[in-house]
Amino acid sequence: MAMSENASAENGAQADAPKRPPYVPDYGAEELRLTPVELPEAHAAYRIVLPGVIQTGADVVLAMGRKSSLWPLTFGLACCAIEMIGTHMANHDLDRFGIVPWPSPRQSDVMVISGTVTKKMAPAIKLLYEQMPNPKYVISMGACATNGGPYTEYDRVLQGVDKIIPVDVYVAGCPPRPEALIQGYLRLQEKIMEDKKMVG
Ligand code: SF4
Repeated sequence: MAMSENASAENGAQADAPKRPPYVPDYGAEELRLTPVELPEAHAAYRIVLPGVIQTGADVVLAMGRKSSLWPLTFGLACCAIEMIGTHMANHDLDRFGIVPWPSPRQSDVMVISGTVTKKMAPAIKLLYEQMPNPKYVISMGACATNGGPYTEYDRVLQGVDKIIPVDVYVAGCPPRPEALIQGYLRLQEKIMEDKKMVG
């Protein structure tokens, strides 16, 4: 009983206390810069319901998702494959670009042709390419994959993988260093954004 009397006396004292004026910060000379700008009245309904929404095309969103989740098929052909494997190791951290090596063509969307393409191997490369879902991309890594490299006189070597599958990016070198292949991946990402209206 005594406690409830004390509590009601405290509440009464709070109610009788003079109200403080609202706090107004004193910015001094910075007042103009720190005062929030009055925005004009919004007209579009989404700006009223969801202020701060970014409006963009669906093709841009799809292309950004595509370029930020490239899954290269893990298969190699010759010495360039060692550099490709090194590129996919932890010290180059390709995950930061959304590039994740994948051991099946069924879910991969990038094929890196890393090495000499012999005519005996060509049908297997074409089959793997056809097993990949659309949209899919090809990087020709190194001189051998691009035009036969040092084996231009060899009848058993295909003089460029673009004879059997379409190539999106060529990476020069014999072999190209990992930095060159990373540059190839980045160029492919730019190409995906440039071609965004052409891919459904
Ligand atoms: S381009 Fe050079 S390093 Fe690459 S597979 Fe051909 S010979 Fe080997």
